[in-house]
Amino acid sequence: MKIMIFPSKYIQGDGAMNLLPEVMEKFGDKPFIVATKSMVETSKKLMGNKGKVVQFGGECSRSEIDRIKAIAKEFGATAIAAVGGGKPIDASKVIADEMNIPVIVCATIAATDAPTSGCAVLYTEEGVYVEVLYQKRNPDVVLMDTDIILKAPTRFLISGMGDALATFFEANSCEHTRSLSEAFALRTKTTMALTKLCLDMLLKYGRQAVKDAENGIKSEAVEAIIEANALLSGIGFESGGLGSAHSIHNGLTVLPATHHLYHGEKVAFGTLTGLHLYDDLGIIDEVYDFCIDVGLPVTFEDLHIPNVTEEELKEVAESSYLYNFMSHEPVELSVEKVIAALKKTDKIGREKKAAKGK
Ligand SMILES: [Zn+2]
Repeated sequence: MKIMIFPSKYIQGDGAMNLLPEVMEKFGDKPFIVATKSMVETSKKLMGNKGKVVQFGGECSRSEIDRIKAIAKEFGATAIAAVGGGKPIDASKVIADEMNIPVIVCATIAATDAPTSGCAVLYTEEGVYVEVLYQKRNPDVVLMDTDIILKAPTRFLISGMGDALATFFEANSCEHTRSLSEAFALRTKTTMALTKLCLDMLLKYGRQAVKDAENGIKSEAVEAIIEANALLSGIGFESGGLGSAHSIHNGLTVLPATHHLYHGEKVAFGTLTGLHLYDDLGIIDEVYDFCIDVGLPVTFEDLHIPNVTEEELKEVAESSYLYNFMSHEPVELSVEKVIAALKKTDKIGREKKAAKGK
């Protein structure tokens, strides 16, 4: 069986967030907003005297979800909107799902796949991973406001590119091994086409988008990268599936020094390591160039682990097998092969950076 899942409506552009009151009104007269700290006042101003705005506590944990859900129930919320990054978005998706009401996502950064997907990552209050929660459906409306996204540090946009970079390669591996996607099914041809478009758009517009974003310039390249990071990467990972890149990301998280890096930055390094294990397109050099040019990590030093030991690399490689995505790769793998690929990623990364004078 093939399954493909989408958000119901995707809106992107300047001032998209200003549509929030109008969008929420269509779902009922008790709009309820969960806003990240820095967006509480903006959200209140935008909603006027309509609805209720609650500040998100910072972690997508069971206790925070229950706290906000109790306020939303008491208020009689007819729809929930999340205004912020991945964690408030994920928490709001879970609350809306459990209350059987619509969820509207207004993302303030384009760094992860949270805005469009129908799943959420649950953590303990201390920020330790617990599980992935799956919702009955994907968000009802997604608003990506270019103005707001450009106000955030460019590193978020770059990190989002790192996450999006893995999308095609992981779906491609899953397709070759007929592995199940995050929708627990095989892939449509549409999914495969969109993951390829995601990669093509990154390679075509990524470098220019970084330059433009750093200068606060709204451009075709910036718009294309927001679309690749949020829409194509989101649909692509969910309906396409995961592989070595996210496995290696998960493995890297066992090293505390890598916690200073964003999700997509570690995924980018994992993508390169994955290409050392399996690269049927012969594209690895192009991917290295891209990562170095936009500022994604290609060496152990970039990952803040310049003196990583053999023992630590073994731990990373072993932990990368935790969620079984490694089995989605079309080649025979072992912990030793993964360790060798991690080292090779760093070695070639250093050589290529030196050649570029970086
Ligand atoms: Zn990811």
